[in-house]
Amino acid sequence: MPIFEYKCRGCHHSFEQIVLSTREQVRCPKCDSSAVEKQLSVFSSPGNRSEQPTASPGACACTPQTCGCR
Ligand SMILES: [Zn+2]
Repeated sequence: MPIFEYKCRGCHHSFEQIVLSTREQVRCPKCDSSAVEKQLSVFSSPGNRSEQPTASPGACACTPQTCGCR
């Protein structure tokens, strides 16, 4: 299931939310505000011990100038 990290614009509370639908309204669990921002990375969340992604840009070990992988 996709888990996204959100940050509330009102109280700056960060929380994680399982989003079953992109149309689902996400609300801050602390102040019940719907003015939340989806964070780009969930892996920087403190206390999140879920597995790290193994693949990342640059995983081919080439420099951008000499990358022959594409
Ligand atoms: Zn809030």
